[in-house]
Amino acid sequence: MIYDYHVHSEISFDGACSVTDCAAAAKDRGIGEICLTDHLDIGYPVKGGGCPEIDQDRYNAALEQARAAFPGVVIKKGVEAGLLGGYLGEIEQDIRINGYDFVIASQHYIVDGDPYDGDYFKNRTPQQAQELYLTELRDNIVQFDDYDVIGHIGYVDKYLHNYDHLTHRPRPFEFCDYPDLIDEILLSAIGKGNGIEINTSNYRVHGYPTPHPSILERYAQLGGEVLTIGSDSHSQQAVGFKIPEAMALAKSCGLGYVCTFTARKPQFHSL
Ligand SMILES: [Zn+2]
Ligand SMILES: [Zn+2]
Repeated sequence: MIYDYHVHSEISFDGACSVTDCAAAAKDRGIGEICLTDHLDIGYPVKGGGCPEIDQDRYNAALEQARAAFPGVVIKKGVEAGLLGGYLGEIEQDIRINGYDFVIASQHYIVDGDPYDGDYFKNRTPQQAQELYLTELRDNIVQFDDYDVIGHIGYVDKYLHNYDHLTHRPRPFEFCDYPDLIDEILLSAIGKGNGIEINTSNYRVHGYPTPHPSILERYAQLGGEVLTIGSDSHSQQAVGFKIPEAMALAKSCGLGYVCTFTARKPQFHSL
């Protein structure tokens, strides 16, 4: 069975398809279960003034409609919470009251910008940009408990094209580049009974997902078991993108299971 556990709908400020259209895409591609993980970015300064929080009534109604239209596809209610220092308590409170099946904790905004916008890389070397990303993620994730998996470890590297003017284009970080920081992040998740995701959107940029396979191997070595796989789709076309490839990669890195979640409890499925 194929599961896509990172799907954005138009409930997200940056999503482009309805929940029902996401479910239709899943059905067409033989995906048995999807989890909607729309953005909850409390405190995030959205460019253009979009709302970084979720309209729960709209979200619940859209889920109900999609479940009625596609009863053969299991559709879970999740959220991707953007971690922002100073707002972690507010984020946890929102998660507690809104009855999610699954929560991804992601580092998008770092100190003064989101790598997505490009400005983050100005006046920083590639190494400074990567190290600051991992430091910020580490600082937030050790303080934040109410999540199930850490999203796309290596997010910053998706935007390394901002260094295209350099003679040597920097490469995405691997485990050996920042072993202490990466171990702290992985061990914090494992210690809390949480896990990480494989995010397949990076296949388009670098030919492999986030995190880098060397980090998946390290996660397996440390005893990590909780793993989800998601496309991070923001359109109907991207639902299910490269999920079978990522499952095979996880297995080759020594991981044994892919998880689905119901009411925040993982179910383990052998890879
Ligand atoms: Zn994200
Ligand atoms: Zn996402």
